[in-house]
Amino acid sequence: MKDSGFNPFEMAQSQFDNVADILDLNDGTRELLRNPMREYHFNIPVKMDDGSTKVFRGFRVQHNDARGPGKGGIRFHPQETVDTVRALSMWMTWKCAVVDIPLGGSKGGVICDPHNLSAREQEQICRGWVRQIARDVGPFADVPAPDVMTNAQHMLWMLDEFEAIAGGRFPGFITGKPVGMGGSLGRKEATGYGVMYTVREALKELDLAPEDTTASVQGFGNVAQHAIEAFHLMGGKTICVSCWDQQDQTAYSFRKNDGIDLDELRNMTDHFGGIDKEKAKAAGYEVIHADDWLKQEVDILVPAALENQISKETVSRISEKVKIIAEGANGPTTPEADAVIKDRGIFMIPDFLANAGGVTCSYFEQVQCNMNYFWGKEEVLEKLDMKMTDAFHAVSEMARKYKLYMRDAAYVIAVNRVAEACRDRGWVS
Ligand code: NAD
Repeated sequence: MKDSGFNPFEMAQSQFDNVADILDLNDGTRELLRNPMREYHFNIPVKMDDGSTKVFRGFRVQHNDARGPGKGGIRFHPQETVDTVRALSMWMTWKCAVVDIPLGGSKGGVICDPHNLSAREQEQICRGWVRQIARDVGPFADVPAPDVMTNAQHMLWMLDEFEAIAGGRFPGFITGKPVGMGGSLGRKEATGYGVMYTVREALKELDLAPEDTTASVQGFGNVAQHAIEAFHLMGGKTICVSCWDQQDQTAYSFRKNDGIDLDELRNMTDHFGGIDKEKAKAAGYEVIHADDWLKQEVDILVPAALENQISKETVSRISEKVKIIAEGANGPTTPEADAVIKDRGIFMIPDFLANAGGVTCSYFEQVQCNMNYFWGKEEVLEKLDMKMTDAFHAVSEMARKYKLYMRDAAYVIAVNRVAEACRDRGWVS
């Protein structure tokens, strides 16, 4: 998204350059992986409800598909930029590689604001997006998914258009569909549970029992609620959560020292993950400052709301007691704050490893669709646990062996796997 001169693609490229140096990649491989393999920019003409025609700009960026079909969401946003989509497609390549699923990285978008569009107009954008790109995506080429301001309904319209063009039923074309229409059980839990599967393994490495640990979580939406659910199932206690208050246009933290009651808080939370503060106070929660979630004397911090939340201004608030940070959100830690966390020796589980449960379950959705055979929820979660646990150990072993920070180790594994696939295919030497 456009903001104050920050260019996410330049940031993604500079992260890649650092890893390329560690791996000593040759020039050809660097050039190939620094930039997307392909990108498509197109117009989507839509007849609006008032009779006028409006042209929306759409994108699909395919960063790399050496390890398998591209995978990545489609965002609808009025300030969407192609550089954001490029960066996100590169990050998807690393995320799929670090959890070792046979998929590459892609991302798409449309410059539009769904708040100002009727359902019919949104449907036309979805169908128009597919008409422009149908030749270059598909269940065995590039598989889209929901992202910012797109949902299961948008995915179904896109699927319907693709199937009309391709002439058949291809539910593996797109993921994020509703359960019963090709969606996978366990998808809603997958990201949050995945975060906590990695935390559970980190606790083992630190020789800590989950039931002796506490957590503080930023966010109370899909990722945060399911991370808390998984943590409580492991025996842990969450003492603080924070979320956005739509009415006051600010965030608050909600604390209960003897542990939050997840179901009780869920019952006072709206669709957008905002907790009703009057009800929370009545139920004995302290309602405190937005950033207080970060100051809590806990063992585990889980930023699971937004990007850029742990910054050079806020990082010093992290208590001495904190041993693990598990990044549920994408990009919650700025590079300056990350350097401080690295120096302090806090066990960092970086975003593209910690929150990869979502894309892993989307991969399971695609596999089930391609087979036209669907698994039970327990089976999905068991497979997810295996994937996340294996990925965590590959990264932590690399970190131990080469004395690397966990984020760097995760990047080294991911970039190396992709570079190897490019070499094996004969694309680079
Ligand atoms: P969500 O919309 O369900 O929840 C977001 C939560 O953050 C809400 O509780 C909201 O109140 C809170 N929030 C917003 N602004 C805040 C602020 N300033 N301070 C404190 N809390 C604030 O979103 P989600 O699906 O849970 O996603 C959360 C993060 O995880 C995002 O960074 C997203 O990109 C990332 N992520 C999500 C998935 C997934 O499967 N949902 C997968 C990978 C990564």
